[in-house]
Amino acid sequence: MNRKLSRQFLQNFLVIFLLTILDTVLAFMLLSFASGLIADSLVKNRYPASSLLQADYNLIDASGVVQNGGGVQVVDKEYRVVYSKGLDTIGKDKLTAGEFTAFLTESKNKPYHYDILYSPEGEFWLIVTFPTSLRLDLSLTYNKEAATGDFLRAGGVMLFTVLCYLAILALFALIYSRITASSILIPLRKLRDGTRLLREGDYSARVDLRLKNEFAELQDTFNDMAARIEHEISLRKKSEEDRKRLILDISHDLKNPMSGIQGYAELLMKKEDMTPKERNDYLEVILNNSRRANRLLTELFELSQMDSPDFSLKPTRTDICEYIRQICGELVPQLEKEGFEYDFDIPEDSVYAMLDTGRFGRILQNLASNAMRYNPKGTRITVSLKTENRQIAIDFSDDGIGIPPDLAENIFKPFVRVDDSRNSETGGSGLGLSIAKKIAQAHGGDLLLLPTEKKGSTFRIFIPSI
Ligand code: ADP
Repeated sequence: MNRKLSRQFLQNFLVIFLLTILDTVLAFMLLSFASGLIADSLVKNRYPASSLLQADYNLIDASGVVQNGGGVQVVDKEYRVVYSKGLDTIGKDKLTAGEFTAFLTESKNKPYHYDILYSPEGEFWLIVTFPTSLRLDLSLTYNKEAATGDFLRAGGVMLFTVLCYLAILALFALIYSRITASSILIPLRKLRDGTRLLREGDYSARVDLRLKNEFAELQDTFNDMAARIEHEISLRKKSEEDRKRLILDISHDLKNPMSGIQGYAELLMKKEDMTPKERNDYLEVILNNSRRANRLLTELFELSQMDSPDFSLKPTRTDICEYIRQICGELVPQLEKEGFEYDFDIPEDSVYAMLDTGRFGRILQNLASNAMRYNPKGTRITVSLKTENRQIAIDFSDDGIGIPPDLAENIFKPFVRVDDSRNSETGGSGLGLSIAKKIAQAHGGDLLLLPTEKKGSTFRIFIPSI
């Protein structure tokens, strides 16, 4: 890639420089053609010295020259300026022979146009002067009568100059093409290296070009894309790990009740001399284990249902205060029967939210069932509701044993329990809070465990009001 682009740039620059040379030659030709076109109209050509010359210089009519900003001088053979009209660039009445020779030879370099003519009859020089408007002295002169040696030397020097000019031009083209190519190649190479790293699986690869041109936009797009891929890959990894862990947890949690059922069923079949009490005890173990397995499978089904793309709520506009009061009322007999204290603080106003009442009720039932299962009798359970900034917050608290703060973040993950060994006692699957959180999120809200200084635990359900 490197060499190909450099070569391409060099070729492009050489073409540009060759076109520049051609253009310069054309420009000179055009200039000489155009100056030829306007030559006749220039004042210096309208009043040549030959047209003014008279045998007696006193008869010379210099009025046209003077009117056009020029001047006429006559210098006699003694180098005295005997006649002067208009513009005078000699500036003296009398010249020495050397001064006059210098005037004649150096007049080409001055910003004036001189037309000088000698009158053999009057033995004087007629000098017509006009200020030069613009002049470019560049001409190529050739005379075939010149000595061959001189011609070769002069031609050689000219050829050498042209070759040097072309060599310098080519060198500049080469340097310039390299500089231009590298300004493209360096960022391109960095972007290529970054892409290679991505292809090889290094999703942390980023490109830093320190530029502010289009490459910077490309760099930002690349870095953005890499960041997204990295994020997606980490999400995929995490969900893969979660899936593996879930399968492991399910098989682990199903194994115990299933082997219990199998073991006791085999015992029942093999043991012939069995008292009715023994038989009853075995059947009870089988029943309890099958209930546990059934509960686990039902909750798992519910959880995976909510993850499926076909899952949707059937929300209706509901007065949430009224609805929570009704659920709390239904909880009262059970709370009293189990020996729990309770306190409900639900406002009398009507606050509306879009609720799938069947599913939303599951959140409160799960929280209430947890509070009763994991806390000792006499624990006080409090339910309160408040509205702030179009958000409804329902707090469900107890002053029981609480949940360790280090588990607060993970407690909503499937199969996470504070004390695994108590699972068989409480019959908990570790899925209740996961299901409750998913229902809250499906309603556009959330379920959180609030950090609290007080004894016990406080869960908060958020739900947008309408
Ligand atoms: P489970 O079916 O085991 O109850 P959950 O997801 O509902 O599963 O609860 C997860 C764990 O959180 C429970 O095993 C329990 O250890 C703990 N927990 C939940 N609620 C409470 C509570 N109110 N007080 C103390 N611990 C709780």
